[in-house]
Amino acid sequence: MPPSTPAVLWFRRDLRLADNPALVEAAADGPVLPLFVLDPALWEPAGASRRAYLGASLRALDASLRERGTRLTVVRGDPARLVALATRAVGATRVHVAADFNPYGSRRDAAVERALAEDGVALVRTGSPYAVAPGRVTNTSGDPYRVFTPFQRAWAEHGWRGPIEAPDDVAWLALEEDTTEIPDPAPPDGLTLPEAGEAAARRRWAEFLDRVGDYAEDRDRPATEGTSRMSAHLKWGEIHPRTMLADLARLRTGGAATYRKELAWREFYADVLHARPETAREYLRPEFARMQYDEPGAQLDAWRRGRTGFPVVDAGMRQLLATGWMHNRVRMITASFLVKDLHLEWRHGARHFLHWLVDGDLASNQHGWQWTAGCGTDAAPYFRVFNPTAQGRRFDPQGEYVRRWVPELADPDVVVDPHDPSPGERRAAGYPDPIVDHAAARREALDRWERIGP
Ligand SMILES: Cc1cc2nc3c(=O)[nH]c(=O)nc-3n(C[C@H](O)[C@H](O)[C@H](O)COP(=O)(O)OP(=O)(O)OC[C@H]3O[C@@H](n4cnc5c(N)ncnc54)[C@H](O)[C@@H]3O)c2cc1C
Repeated sequence: MPPSTPAVLWFRRDLRLADNPALVEAAADGPVLPLFVLDPALWEPAGASRRAYLGASLRALDASLRERGTRLTVVRGDPARLVALATRAVGATRVHVAADFNPYGSRRDAAVERALAEDGVALVRTGSPYAVAPGRVTNTSGDPYRVFTPFQRAWAEHGWRGPIEAPDDVAWLALEEDTTEIPDPAPPDGLTLPEAGEAAARRRWAEFLDRVGDYAEDRDRPATEGTSRMSAHLKWGEIHPRTMLADLARLRTGGAATYRKELAWREFYADVLHARPETAREYLRPEFARMQYDEPGAQLDAWRRGRTGFPVVDAGMRQLLATGWMHNRVRMITASFLVKDLHLEWRHGARHFLHWLVDGDLASNQHGWQWTAGCGTDAAPYFRVFNPTAQGRRFDPQGEYVRRWVPELADPDVVVDPHDPSPGERRAAGYPDPIVDHAAARREALDRWERIGP
C-alpha cells in the first residue's frame, strides 16, 4: 500500500477516536474520510430512546472531529450503495471498519464487501467491539463454549492487546454532496437520557473507578448507584472494553475482579450469538419451543406499563420507561415474572426491552432473557422460580427503590410495607391488586415445564 492513498473509516458501533485500531489502520493509508451511514434497517426498529442516544453520540463524535478541523460525513440509505459512493468520491482503495459479529451486521458487511470489490476496493476489518472477538475462544475440541464459567476462564487466558491512543497526525477528509444532517430526534416523552459520547464515557468510567472497590457488595442493590452505568457507552463503542480492562488490571480489589467478570458476560453472549445466530429469535434449548405458553394480552400490557400489582416488577418496568435503563437485578426479576408468572414467551418481553433500552444490545438482551427464562446458556434451573415479593424485600430491604419508581407507594403513612401493600392500602393508594396469584402461577409454570419432558 503506497503512502497517502485516501481511506474511508466507516463508524458503526465504535463511536470514538481513542483506542480505535481501525482508525490507526486507516490513518496509515493516508487522508481519512470519517463516515457514518444511517441505515434504515437499523434506525427504524431502534426505538425512540436508542435513536435519541445515537443522535447525541454522533453529535459528540462530530464535535471531536471538528476540534480536529473536519466533521463526520453522514449519509442515509443502503450501506452497500452509499459506502461505495463515498469511497469513489474520495478515491479510496480501502474501507476500514471494526468487525461486526451480529447477524444483521455480518450480512450487511458481506454485501458492502461485494459492492466495494466491484470497484477493486477492500473492506478491512480491524478489531471488534470486544476484548476478544467472538469465535476466538473455543474449548479443546475447537467448539464454542455454552457455559459461562469455562468460557470466562479461557477468555482471560486468551488475553487481549493493550489500549492505543488516537493518532494525532491524521489528515482528514469530508464530503459535501449527498450528505445529511446528524438527526436530533427527541427522546420519548418524559425520558431523560444519559450524556452520550466518548468524553462522557471517559468521565463516567473515571468516576466509577473511584467506587469499583464497593462494586461486589453494591451491584445487587437497585436503590443504590452501585453499578457503573457503562452499558450504553459500551453498546455504542464510545469506550472500548479493553481500555476498561487495562484500568481494572491495575487494581487489586474484589470489586475490580467482579466487574471484569461482568464484562466477560457481555463477551460470552456475543460469542454465543455468533456461534448460534438463530438464537436471536429461537430457543437456545429447542425443547422449550414445545412448552405451552399463553397468548399475549392484557397481562402483557400491565407488565409493560408497570401495573402488575407486584411492586418491584412495576418499579423496574417504570424505571425502564422513564430512563431507558433498568438495574440488572430487576431485569432478571421482571423477565422471570413475564415467563414464569405470566407464562408468556421470552420473546415478547425481549422485544419490549429492546424497544426501550438505551443500551439495548441483541446478544446481551436476547441471551439475558433466555438465561432468565431457563431456555438459554448455563441457565438457572427452570424450577427455581423467583418470588417477586421476596426478591424485592431481599434486594431493596428499605423499599427505597420501589417507593422511588412507584409513587403511589411512596407515602409511609398510606403504605407501611411497600413490597406487600394490603388490599386496603392498595385501594387507598390507587395501586392495582396483583394480576396473578404467584403461588398458583409458579405451580402452573412447573407443570408446563414437566410436560415438555427431558
Ligand atoms: C433480561 C435481561 C436483559 C438484558 N439486556 C441487556 C441489553 O440489552 N444490553 C446490555 O448491555 N445488557 C443487558 N443486560 C445485562 C445487564 O443487565 C446490563 O448490562 C446492566 O444492567 C447494565 O448496567 P451497568 O452498565 O450499570 O452494569 P454493570 O453492573 O456496571 O456492568 C458493567 C458492564 O458489564 C456488562 N454486563 C454486566 N452484566 C451483564 C450481563 N448479565 N450480560 C451481559 N453483559 C453484562 C455490561 O456491558 C455492563 O455495562 C440484560 C440482562 C437481563 C437479565
